Amino acid sequence: MQKLNKHFGSLHVLKDIDLEIVPGEVVVVIGASGSGKSTLIRCINGLEEFQQGSLDVADKTLRPHGRGEQALQQIRTEVGMVFQQFNLFPHLSVRDNVTLAPIKVRGTGRQDAIRNATRLLERVGIEDQAHKYPSQLSGGQQQRVALARALAMEPRLMLFDEPTSALDPEMIGEVLDAIRELAREGMTMVVVTHEMGFAREVADRVIYIHQGEITEQGPPEQLFDAPQHERTQNFLARIL
Ligand code: ADP
Ligand code: MG
Repeated sequence: MQKLNKHFGSLHVLKDIDLEIVPGEVVVVIGASGSGKSTLIRCINGLEEFQQGSLDVADKTLRPHGRGEQALQQIRTEVGMVFQQFNLFPHLSVRDNVTLAPIKVRGTGRQDAIRNATRLLERVGIEDQAHKYPSQLSGGQQQRVALARALAMEPRLMLFDEPTSALDPEMIGEVLDAIRELAREGMTMVVVTHEMGFAREVADRVIYIHQGEITEQGPPEQLFDAPQHERTQNFLARIL
């Protein structure tokens, strides 16, 4: 994205954001609450409009006034997203949550979609829950279903917005493990998280956002151990 600017009314939420993500890269975004992390992620998959700049994603270019429905459709097909609040379909079984989009959007045959869902649920360690409903699962299990559901579309980019913030502490590990595994397999991803140990371990690059601006970015060792900017130092001192 080039010089992306986003306003909510008079609030200037993203300021001249330049961000290039290379295939296979794991980018972790950190910053205080209200700094614009979610808005940034939501811009990347077309959930939010922006007022200036441009954004290239999934072979499409989004501009302030050039948001064709077709481009948005393609981006949503090729960019997976996992939210803080799992956002599963409550009236569908785990398996149907995972097969719905491939069948409806991609036109995958039902048997193929089910086979793929079974494989994905195995991969995130919950194949035995396939016939349950979301409300019958723990938060950690629900989030792993959400991950499997996103992966079922075979996205080329995955976005995570605080995927463990709504979880009880004992369930954070199982979700981070699944994301870590995906990173190891080479998935391109942007992860907003407050889990700094995880960030240090999986990130190729950490970006610190302060009031809608990228204050500092770099490899985790550099950003965590030798932050250059006072704001970054202050932020890290508060949370570490
Ligand atoms: P973060 O994810 O870093 O906590 P957000 O991107 O959610 O921050 O929010 C950035 C700023 O934009 C905050 O001041 C927030 O109140 C504001 N904001 C977010 N969404 C909206 C919205 N839909 N309408 C108006 N203001 C919003
Ligand atoms: Mg947020």
